Amino acid sequence: MVHTEQRPHWRIDDVLDRTDLAALLDEVTPAVGGSAGFGRKWHCPIADHEDHHASVTMFRNRHGHERWRCWSGDHRGDAIDLVVAVRHCYRIDAIDWLATRAGMVPGRPLPAIPVRRTQSLTVAVEPSPVIEHYVRLCESVLSGPQGRGAREWLRARGLTDDTIQANRIGADPGRILLRRERGLPYGSDAAAVLPALDPSGRVVYVQARYLDPDVTGRKYDNPSAALAPHPRLAYPAPNGERGEVLLVCEGLPDALIASQMGFRAVALLGAQTPDQSVASRLANFASEHGLAIAIAADSDPAGHRLTATLTELLRQRNVDAVSVTPPEGLDLNAWALVDPSWHDWIDRAIHPTPTVEIADELEIDCIDL
Ligand SMILES: [Zn+2]
Repeated sequence: MVHTEQRPHWRIDDVLDRTDLAALLDEVTPAVGGSAGFGRKWHCPIADHEDHHASVTMFRNRHGHERWRCWSGDHRGDAIDLVVAVRHCYRIDAIDWLATRAGMVPGRPLPAIPVRRTQSLTVAVEPSPVIEHYVRLCESVLSGPQGRGAREWLRARGLTDDTIQANRIGADPGRILLRRERGLPYGSDAAAVLPALDPSGRVVYVQARYLDPDVTGRKYDNPSAALAPHPRLAYPAPNGERGEVLLVCEGLPDALIASQMGFRAVALLGAQTPDQSVASRLANFASEHGLAIAIAADSDPAGHRLTATLTELLRQRNVDAVSVTPPEGLDLNAWALVDPSWHDWIDRAIHPTPTVEIADELEIDCIDL
């Protein structure tokens, strides 16, 4: 007679959905600061890593899954990897252990998914319906005859149709052709319309970039502060996490081209030097997404000042930012246009030595025994 051991068969997603990673980290390793998961740090749980500085943070990856990462030892993973590391067991045993801990019993209905302690630190700005309406109108103008100038301007900057659509870029034919409410960009002449998205992808602000600044006397026109607060930062629609880095760019055209090339990018809007609040928001966003930070400011005196200021503000938040400077006299967008291999230079600046990807980045949905 054959005796088979009956093992429960759990879906990994079911187990992870019922595991609060911040609570689990609290159980297995000492924590420092922050009441919720994001912003809290832990000492590395890996036994042979003497981590005096609490190098572990938590983040949510692109699929919304909670993960942890040790920034000084390059240890990382999900809740299952954590249990494997601290209990020195096989993955299948770690899954069983987490399932039991979550109150999952074979043959019984799954327990409800608990509410997590963690929530995003990002402060949400309520989008203005007036700006949303303007952006929608300008999107439709872009594809019509009045959008031709803006289409050419965008193409000359190397932006593809996918990038244009994902970021809801549009065309403003000017106030003679397009009537508008007070407080919207004035519309002296034709402009490309670049919405500023928040980290969740909502339009919170918009910039009209005049196609011919010689005619209008200025490059950009913005909404009034009464209509929408200046967000200082804009997040192009994500299109990958190349190099596991957040590329901080000067202005939307640079950030859009970086995002198109697969980098996670953020645009600094306006001429104001980054301050404490901007640095905190960048550090929090990067930490929540498990990204390092690279600053790609223009190669001019203002750009060098910006890089120096932001690097120091980030250093005060225990973030070591890398600087990626385009060749003399070019911004990132111009660099991308003259040098097709520009992104390889950035890759090399971010990762000077080759790094080895470890296997736990593979996401397995289900294990069959
Ligand atoms: Zn470690």
